[in-house]
Order: sequence, then C-alpha cells, then structure tokens
Amino acid sequence: MKQKGIFITATGTGVGKTYASLALGHLLKDKNIDVGYMKPVQCSGDDASKLTNALDLKDEFTLINPYYFEEPLSPHIAAKRAGRRINPHKIIKAYQKLSAEHEMMIVEGAGGLLVPLCKDYLIADLIKDLDLDVIIVASLGLGTINHTLLSINQAKSLGINVKGVLFCNASKKKAGIPEKTNPRVIRDFSGADILGQIPFLDKVGKRAIIAKCAKSIFLDKIIKSPDKVLTGRLASMDKQYVWHPFTQMRDWLEQEPLIIDRAKGSYLIDTDGNKYLDGVSSLWVNVHGHAQKNIDQAIKAQVNKLSHSTLLGLSNTPSVELAKELVRIAPKGLEKVFYSDSGSTSVEIAIKMAYQYWQNIGKKKKTKIVHLENSYHGDTLGSVSVGGISLFHEVYSRLIFKAIKLGFPSRMNIGSGDYFKCLNKLEKLLQSEGRSVCAFIVEPIVQGAAGMIMWPEGVLREMSRICTKYEVLLIVDEVATGFGRTGKMFACEHEGVRPDIMCLAKGITGGYLPLAATLTTKRVFDGFLFDYKDKKTFFHGHTYTGNPLCCAAALANLEVFKKERTLQKLQPKIGFLAKKLKGFEKLDRVGEVRQMGFMVGIELIKDKRTMEPFSWEEGIGVKVCKKVREKGVILRPLGNVIVLMPPLSITLKELGVLLDVTYSSIEEIVC
Ligand SMILES: *Cc1c(COP(=O)(O)O)cnc(C)c1O
Repeated sequence: MKQKGIFITATGTGVGKTYASLALGHLLKDKNIDVGYMKPVQCSGDDASKLTNALDLKDEFTLINPYYFEEPLSPHIAAKRAGRRINPHKIIKAYQKLSAEHEMMIVEGAGGLLVPLCKDYLIADLIKDLDLDVIIVASLGLGTINHTLLSINQAKSLGINVKGVLFCNASKKKAGIPEKTNPRVIRDFSGADILGQIPFLDKVGKRAIIAKCAKSIFLDKIIKSPDKVLTGRLASMDKQYVWHPFTQMRDWLEQEPLIIDRAKGSYLIDTDGNKYLDGVSSLWVNVHGHAQKNIDQAIKAQVNKLSHSTLLGLSNTPSVELAKELVRIAPKGLEKVFYSDSGSTSVEIAIKMAYQYWQNIGKKKKTKIVHLENSYHGDTLGSVSVGGISLFHEVYSRLIFKAIKLGFPSRMNIGSGDYFKCLNKLEKLLQSEGRSVCAFIVEPIVQGAAGMIMWPEGVLREMSRICTKYEVLLIVDEVATGFGRTGKMFACEHEGVRPDIMCLAKGITGGYLPLAATLTTKRVFDGFLFDYKDKKTFFHGHTYTGNPLCCAAALANLEVFKKERTLQKLQPKIGFLAKKLKGFEKLDRVGEVRQMGFMVGIELIKDKRTMEPFSWEEGIGVKVCKKVREKGVILRPLGNVIVLMPPLSITLKELGVLLDVTYSSIEEIVC
C-alpha cells in the first residue's frame, strides 16, 4: 500500500523545516521507501534545489517547486511584488503528479500554518486540500512552548491532524533547562506526540545525517500507517454495536461498511482516504458543501461562548437572532418560530398546534387531519399517522391515529388533469367535512420520499385557496424542499402561497447539526394566548429546543446564502442539470425523469411500453447505487427511483461527473 504524505510546517520561519525534510528524506530512503519531495513555494534561497539534489530526485523541478520568488517575504506579498499570483490548484495538481510517482511525499510548507498564499487561502488551506497530516517543526529553547502550543491548537481547531512535533536543534551549545524540558511540557499540555530531535548538524552529507538522526528521530511514529487496520477495526465495531436506521441489519452484517472519516466541499472521504462525491447531500441536508469555512467557524465561535441553555423559561442569543432571520425570509404571514430538532418533530408540533388551535378557540369539532397519498412527513408516530407511504404505514397501523388520506397521482406523469380531479375531491371533502377538519398537510410541489413526485404548476395554489375557503389550516412541510432545493428559498414561493404553518429542518443548518423549526402565523399564535389557568398553553418542548450551536450554524448557513449568492449561482446549474437529464430519457429502462431545481428522481422501469415496474424485491435502485459507489459517487435510491440531490454548491464539473457516473451505471445495470 502507498504511504500517505506528510506536510512539514513549523512554528515560524527559519526554525528548521528544510533540515527536517532533509533528515526525514534520508531516513525514509534508508528504509527503502521511495520518497518524493515538494516545496510548493520558495521565497529566495535555493533550499528546494539543494534538497532535490541531496535526495537524488529525478522529478521535474517545476513540479517539486512550482513557485519561486526572489524576495525573502511572505509568499503572497513576494508574489504580488513579482507581479504574479499563487494558484493553489496548480500546486495541488503538481502534488498529485508527484505523489503518483512515489510511495510517500514530504511537502515542505512556507513559514507556519497561517501564512497566506493568496487571497483567502492559507498554508492551512493547502494542507487540508492536500489532505495531509502535519509535522510541526519547533526549535528547542526559550520561547518555543508558546509558539508550538499555538500551532498545535490552531491545526486541531482547523481539523488538521498533527502527527507530532519534531524539534530542531540549531545550535552547538550544550542543552540547558529549556532545551531539556520543552518536549515534555509540550507533550503534556497538547497531547501531541513527540517525534524526536534533529541534533545540530555540522555536516549535511547523507551518511552523516543518517548516522546522527537514526536514533534521535522516532521514524516508526511517522511512517506507521494505520489506515487499513483502523478501517477493519471500526468495521467490526460497527457490526458489533451500531443499529442502522431504515436498514435490514441482517444484510448489513454481511457487507463491509463504508466508514466516512472526513469531508470537504462536495466530497466525503472514508477511513482509507478514498473520496466520494456526495450525490444526495448526506441525505438531503448539505447546502454549501462540507467543511464550509463560515459555518465551521460559527459553530466553533459559539462553542467558546455557550453550547446549550434551555428555551424553557429562558432565551439565548443565537435562537433569537435566527428566529428573526427565519421570519424575514419565510413566506409573508409566518411570524412566529417554534424550535425542535428534526423534521419529524417539526411536523408533530405542526399537527399538535393545528389541532389545539381550534380546540382553544372553541371549534372543538375540528379534529381531523387530511394528508395525501404517498406523503412522507417523518418517522415519529404522529408524523407516520399523516404519512401515506403504505410500506411505512402498515407496520405501525395500530399505534397511529386515524387521518384522512386523499388519493393523489403518483409515479408516472399521467397528465395534469388528474391532479386537478383530485383537487376537486379535496374541495368536495372539505365542503362536506370541513367543519371537522383542522388541517391539511402537504409537502409543497415535490413529494420527496415518495420518489420525487412533482406537481404541475397551480396545484399548490389551488390547495391553498380551498383550505382558506373551508377554514382549514394549511401545513406545508418544507423539510426537504426548503433552503434552496427547488431553486427558490422555499417551494411555496413558486406559487406565492402563504401557509398557516411551515415545517423546516434538513437544510436549515446547511447540513451540519440537527435543528428544526415550525413557523406559524400570528393568528395561530394568538389562539394560544389565554390565562394560565385556562390550560390552553402549547404543551410541547424538547430538552434541546433552540440549541445555541445549532442556531449559530443556521445563522451562518443563511449568511452564506447571501454572501455566496447561492440561489443566483444555482440557476445555471439547474439549467445544465435539465439539459443533461434529457439524455437519460433515451435509456430503455428509464420510465420518467423528474426534476425541480436540485431535486431529481430518475425512475427505472422494467418495460417502457407497458409501464410494468421493476418489482420491489429486485432491488434495482440499490444495485445501481452500488455501481455508482464503485465509481466514487454516493447515492441512495428510493425504491426504483434514483435520487440526485447534490449540495447546492457543487461545481458544474462535479455535476457533470455525477451525471455521467449515474448514466453509465444505469446503463450497465439495467440496460
Ligand atoms: C426528511 C423529511 C422529514 C423527516 O425529517 P427527520 O429530520 O428525518 O425527522 C419530514 N418531512 C419531509 C418532507 C422530509 O423529507
């Protein structure tokens, strides 16, 4: 197996990174490891070429050292003064070329972790993009503890793995107390591994270095490569201890689990370092990509202030600020925010509110809830009660409450006339039973879990009209459609619909932390304002309601929408997606391709002429998703429907890969 590379950084400049790289290079080569070396940026001097010669490397020098500047300055300044700009992509490409040629790479940084390479891009960002562990080189002596601890803490807070600290002895003087105590103090205060010392080197020949460093550098701490072993251990622990949701565990126990360890942008990375395009946004939640800087930082900053305090009897800063923002962006009329922690709970709350609202104001007969066939609103008993996917519904039928199911088109496009026929049924139903109905709950325009069923224009607006006419509260469950998924912030906006209650979750924190919100009109809210003794309080609340970390993440999510102009940038991507999806319709076993914004369902069908579906037992969707995984893409199907729901931040190029891989996998499995 290939060893991964290491990134050599330091507590400052002139500490001994080059010595460390040289010493490690010689020691590793002495162990018969084929070492490559890279110095992405060099400002003055000729260290890179000296080291290249010393290690006898044959790679192209422009790959080893892509950027050289004359002046001994911070890289971005040196570049600017030379009339140039450092392009991180060029460095990353060069690294990929070199690492393909060698068993292990040593990459030497410039200065320390927070040295800028160009606008908004630090050495630390490069380390993350290269996905390398770091060794921090520190000098021995007075003053080193502070700088070393700062560097270690900074690396950790950025999610960079510190392999350890390597000390460099730059002077011939005999070791005093600081030199003797530095390593231990740093280890005790940071928990970082001490990787040894490079003794003072008066000769820099290969033999001399190996002789002097072989004992003082703990090479096995550096090259131990536990990845595969770790994966095996985690996999068996998973099977021993974890029960996975919506999973037949007997099947699971027979397979090797894929264990995700970290992520960046549109990619998930497993414990072996393999990258996978996150084609369903980690189950429909991710918005701006993984490890998005602003959201990461907002959560960290909030951790340092307050992680949790209750909303029962108290308030907290981020939950107040977020409520104001949610009301600002929500459809007009929604003015109050009730927090919880999952889509299911946001629906439970909506149901209880709608029911109790009519009880509170004296219309006691209004108790029933109408929902759609094939609807999905979550997995808690209340939300299952209004769910219309029979597979989930039947098992728990004796536990759930009775609701009224309205027949509604599913699966194949049967012409919009039928949708409106169903709306006539809704009108008739409410005409005769409206006095006993408290609410009508829908997933607006896109019924996600049913297989991305999408309604023609006007259906939602008509539903809203009928509800208003018969005094039934309209609950829109925007858990899946909210936060830009359909191309607008909320699906309701496509038809100018103003619901009475709106449920939000999934994308609300950008996909970082569990948070949900149920928004209501002032009218509903006012239906709960009574004397305490009237017992008309809304009796509901979860322990973590309004958690400050989650709310801080959600606020950052909304800020990124503004800062990145996410919705504007999304439009051409939606167009590209639509164009590429046209090609899928040609495939023999593709019955229908449905798209609204960044929600896509590709329905596979056994016989296109007779419209005979694949049977559920064939697991055709699962097979296609297995195939795409072999090609580095993660998808999760809904029965025979292949779902594409990438992060809104995905690039056109990545989107192209997602579509090509999906296309070829469908072709290979079913055509
Ligand atoms: C996912 C989803 C839910 C349930 O959300 P959880 O956070 O999984 O409880 C509810 N409604 C819709 C429309 C959903 O897509």
